[in-house]
Amino acid sequence: VAKRLEGKTIVITGASSGIGRSTAFEFARTAPANNLKLVLTARRIETLKGVAQQIRAEVGEGVQVLPVKLDVSNPEEVRAFVPGLPEEFRDINVLVNNAGLVKGVAKAPEIAEEDINTMFNTNVTGLINMTQAVLSVFKKRSEGGAGDIINIGSIAGREPYPGGSIYCATKAAVRSFTESLRKELIATRIRILEVDPGQVETEFSVVRFYGDKSKADAVYAGCDPLTPDDIAEVVVFVATRRENVVVADTLIFPNHQA
Ligand code: NDP
Repeated sequence: VAKRLEGKTIVITGASSGIGRSTAFEFARTAPANNLKLVLTARRIETLKGVAQQIRAEVGEGVQVLPVKLDVSNPEEVRAFVPGLPEEFRDINVLVNNAGLVKGVAKAPEIAEEDINTMFNTNVTGLINMTQAVLSVFKKRSEGGAGDIINIGSIAGREPYPGGSIYCATKAAVRSFTESLRKELIATRIRILEVDPGQVETEFSVVRFYGDKSKADAVYAGCDPLTPDDIAEVVVFVATRRENVVVADTLIFPNHQA
């Protein structure tokens, strides 16, 4: 499996915490001596630099880790992202579109316009813009445009719930975009994959409640959520199948969350 990651460049959005951070570690642990290049992106650059240091400390110099400040909801920043990378990191093989958030729990008529825009601009437009940027790298590659795009959706995109209408709509949009793109690219060497988590204990709920940790903790009371590592293992699994194997769509949730 490590051999399949040999020399690859992997971009992860939202790598400063939670699932994105764990996914960076999981790739690094899977191929610690395989000249892997990890480009970790998020808005909190100091946190990202810390993640990069922790990975280097754990796995050593066999993995190159580059932290890059990037707000996926800003189309200009996304446009500048690939051209702004050092040349040796520009030949991207895998993109994990993980950056995402939920703002608030409220009935649809009460949701603030700003929160609606933040969720759509990040979870949907940001993911689409990143996908376009990286697809253009795949298409230019002389070996025939191989590459993986792994979108992190959510159980919320399949099972909408009251109080989460906008977030659920963003994740349904991710699902729909992913399926269309997969069908457009069928029989090419590009794989378009989706991993949909159920409840995972991360900073997600802290963001949902605008930083109120006690409200966030209450979400997990009496539950046994997944850990971000549980999702990271699946992301690395789908990225390391033989090139002809497409694990298109995966739903992972804790046993209590039926
Ligand atoms: P976290 O809040 O721990 O991580 C979210 C990450 O996204 C952070 O690294 C954050 O970094 C980044 N991010 C948010 N907005 C932006 C932006 N505009 N530009 C770039 N990066 C951004 O939550 P999770 O790890 O749980 O979430 C990861 C993904 O998993 C999301 O897409 C989420 O919807 C999905 N998911 C989570 C579930 C859960 O229960 N936790 C369930 C199902 C799906 P920074 O703030 O530094 O920019």
